[in-house]
Amino acid sequence: MPKQAKSRTRASGAVPAVAPRPELKRYFEALSSALGPQHWWPARTPFEVIVGAILTQNTAWTNVERAIANLRREGLLTVSALEHVDQRRLARLIRSSGYFRQKARKLKEFVRFLRREFGGSLERMFRTPTAELRERLLAVHGIGRETADSILLYAGGHGVFVVDAYTHRILSRHGLSHEKAKYEDVRALFEASLPREPALYNEFHGLIVNVGKNWCRTGEPRCQECPLEPFLPARALKVKAGAPVAAGAQP
Ligand code: SF4
Repeated sequence: MPKQAKSRTRASGAVPAVAPRPELKRYFEALSSALGPQHWWPARTPFEVIVGAILTQNTAWTNVERAIANLRREGLLTVSALEHVDQRRLARLIRSSGYFRQKARKLKEFVRFLRREFGGSLERMFRTPTAELRERLLAVHGIGRETADSILLYAGGHGVFVVDAYTHRILSRHGLSHEKAKYEDVRALFEASLPREPALYNEFHGLIVNVGKNWCRTGEPRCQECPLEPFLPARALKVKAGAPVAAGAQP
């Protein structure tokens, strides 16, 4: 089992103001007790997290695993190796991850950015304050919000919550956000509702991925077996309707 990348505590970047939803903490506790530790992100080093975060865009993790295995076998999972490898060869090695030519360019752009702005040092990069580093990462070709936040949280230990398609789906099915809610609004919802602890964000995102893969699928969700079933709004309403009404309570 691969080890998790090292995590350090950092303050989060600025996020839009939203009303906290304290029940999210209970979602976390229910998932954590039902599913246990997730060991997410599956990577051996912070640099490997970054490579994986770029390669996993628009594809399943199983396709990324093959690409990373190729890079490891060829000794290319270091900053300087990726700087020097021919881009076409790199593209061939990561073919299984899809959009491989674009992703080869994105990897090259990232290591160029790292060299130019931080002398090639991840340590230096991650010493940058969260909000500033997030902005600088988002300016790199091929790094969007989810990728930037995965890099910040899982490779750098910064306190930002990673939002993905599973997060959007689960929250909208539970009436906690709109299906088409903006990335930043969902991130803000989690960050306003939970203590700002990278270890908690790390684990919660892994648990959400697990629920999305195993129960909360795109088509028919498997709610009856899902650990989040007790939190479904329909059930909450049913319980409320059947509960005894306290003396003096208004109808
Ligand atoms: S209970 Fe149903 S809707 Fe809620 S997360 Fe589980 S599968 Fe999705």
